[in-house]
Amino acid sequence: MATKAINNSKHLKKYEKEMNMCIRCAYCFEECPVIKETQWDTDGARGKIIMSYGLLTGELEPSQYIADKLFRCTFCRDCLDKCPSNINILEIISSARADLVKAGYASDTHKHVIKNIKDTGNIYGDTEVISQEREGKIPLFIGCQYLGRPNKTKKYIKILEKLGIDPVVENEMCCGYPMEVLGFREDFEKHKEKFQKSFPYKDAITLCPTCTVFLREGHQIDAKHVLQVMLEKLPKANLDMKVTYHDPCDFSRGLKIIEEPRKILEKLGVEIVEMKNNKENSRCCGGGGGILMTDQDLSGDIARKRIKEAIETGVDILVTSCPTCEQVLKKAAQEISEDEGKSISVRNIEDIIWRGLKKSAEIS
Ligand code: SF4
Ligand code: SF4
Repeated sequence: MATKAINNSKHLKKYEKEMNMCIRCAYCFEECPVIKETQWDTDGARGKIIMSYGLLTGELEPSQYIADKLFRCTFCRDCLDKCPSNINILEIISSARADLVKAGYASDTHKHVIKNIKDTGNIYGDTEVISQEREGKIPLFIGCQYLGRPNKTKKYIKILEKLGIDPVVENEMCCGYPMEVLGFREDFEKHKEKFQKSFPYKDAITLCPTCTVFLREGHQIDAKHVLQVMLEKLPKANLDMKVTYHDPCDFSRGLKIIEEPRKILEKLGVEIVEMKNNKENSRCCGGGGGILMTDQDLSGDIARKRIKEAIETGVDILVTSCPTCEQVLKKAAQEISEDEGKSISVRNIEDIIWRGLKKSAEIS
């Protein structure tokens, strides 16, 4: 039973000064995917900061209502770009989550995922989800989302081999990002040590945008996403396709990787028709920050909005470079096709790269 107030909170305390820097301008509301759906002030960054400050001072008691609000964020990073006070909004939200979890307000679904990581090293709680270990020269971090999709991982590894990049794959464990983002910070501190023993590298290449950000921020590893290392090595191809490209939030806003995927697609003979909101202004797919586990309706509403924007471009294919965006957008595209009869196919960029490599082999 959750009853403890989080006055003198351990995690939020660090951000007391920063929370006071909020000038209440509401620029953070402009493109927040959550507030656009719900229209509640408490669902935007400003509202979350006010509630977090209230929790810190004790003016607000922790409650299920406040926890639901603080966990309603996709971590899309849009508010970070909009905030004139440069407040580290995501650190404040994840600190408030950490204090709420400590006070007993973790959801059962989130607890389950964290237990899975602790028991098996992956988010699935499945001991058969294992890395395809391989000797090589450059450490490659696969990440849970790709570990659970072994065919896609094999394809990416084959692409790297064909491009002369020789990856080392270890028997890896989750980087711990879900622990951090869902507020299980004490679990993360213990996990961090285990993770760093199992993946003792200073540099690595990665398959997932979110793992790339977290290896850098959570483990101080100089991680590069595979698209960054393969751009120069890819041969030209003539796929003669027209697609639209969805920038994952952690890519375009988190890592500022905007041109590389576009240049890769162009090199392979793929024409890009941009959506209205693109590059650093890309709209969220609705799959981040844990809401996919606890608020699937909200996540689905956000994803369907993005698919509608993609359909407006008039192309038949949407390409993305994140396994979570791919999964969420595929589901939304299917729903729109069933409900409205408008369709678009969602593909991950590695499928297009693979087709391009096969085509260039045919040509040469
Ligand atoms: S990170 Fe995205 S979803 Fe979360 S408060 Fe900011 S704009 Fe809204
Ligand atoms: S944009 Fe920044 S300063 Fe303005 S209300 Fe939002 S969090 Fe506060």
